[in-house]
Amino acid sequence: MERLRRGGKAAAGFLASSGLRRTDVREAVLQALAGAPGALSHQEIMKRLKARRPDRVSVYRALDAFVAAGFVHCIEVGTGGRLFELADRCSESQCHPHFTCRVCRKTSCLPDVHPDLVRADGYRVERQRVFLEGVCPACAGC
Ligand SMILES: [Zn+2]
Ligand SMILES: [Zn+2]
Ligand SMILES: [Zn+2]
Repeated sequence: MERLRRGGKAAAGFLASSGLRRTDVREAVLQALAGAPGALSHQEIMKRLKARRPDRVSVYRALDAFVAAGFVHCIEVGTGGRLFELADRCSESQCHPHFTCRVCRKTSCLPDVHPDLVRADGYRVERQRVFLEGVCPACAGC
């Protein structure tokens, strides 16, 4: 995953080691996610892959395969949108929190915020995901 972040040709090797068949679209989607500073929507991924003119459905399928394999996490944001990101900044039991601004609608990753894990008697929590809403620093400043 580290190598993926640094870019280059690591995507093909990563796919092979995850047991996924390598396709051009999968490789391109993985590179787009690795090169992104935060989580991307399907539309943003399409924009980053514009030069390759990938088929929308293939991009959806690649994302589904990555989420099923566990190295990409899908974040559902307030308005029913879905964002995708590499899972390397999440721990086993907890995803880093996400903040959605109600003014600009942008969702930010907060990888340095580590809320306590919530415990509930009898419930085995497998992954905690925290979603925050409010006004982001950029919008609060104006
Ligand atoms: Zn996560
Ligand atoms: Zn904002
Ligand atoms: Zn994130």
